[in-house]
Amino acid sequence: MCLICDRIEMIKRGENPFFVKELETGYVVLGDHQHFPGYALFLYKRHGDATELFHLAPAERAKFLEEMTLVAQAVSRAFQAEKMNYELLGMGDAHLHWHLFPRRTGDIGSYGNGGRGPVWWYPMEKMYDDENRPSPETLAEMKRALLSELDRVFGPMEMGANRP
Ligand SMILES: [Zn+2]
Repeated sequence: MCLICDRIEMIKRGENPFFVKELETGYVVLGDHQHFPGYALFLYKRHGDATELFHLAPAERAKFLEEMTLVAQAVSRAFQAEKMNYELLGMGDAHLHWHLFPRRTGDIGSYGNGGRGPVWWYPMEKMYDDENRPSPETLAEMKRALLSELDRVFGPMEMGANRP
């Protein structure tokens, strides 16, 4: 049982409240917890043997990386990041998925090296506290903001040449 596949099945059934946009190689979703406002994920469409970037065929990898890069740009614009952080994990669920964190000064409090450091220097129990779950209204607002920027960075080419 793969958590990423579960979430993708929910998207296909129209039941994933965190879903924002489908791209060629993956799905853009907002994170369940929003300690880092705008935290988003880019879920690769296929579950299978390709659990590393170097397992992907070059053209597929290039497309996946290009789309992830533009998703990060949209997240950065929508949520005014000072810096984006990127993580491609998958020991828990061997299914390629990017974690995209908009970072801002002070966002890990006094943790890390005097308040500086990677997201995982912030305590897990705080990051995943229920207080960080967005309300339905906040989530809807965030999805609108991100979708608007995604449509901007992907532009008409992504939508197909025949669209007005
Ligand atoms: Zn999967």
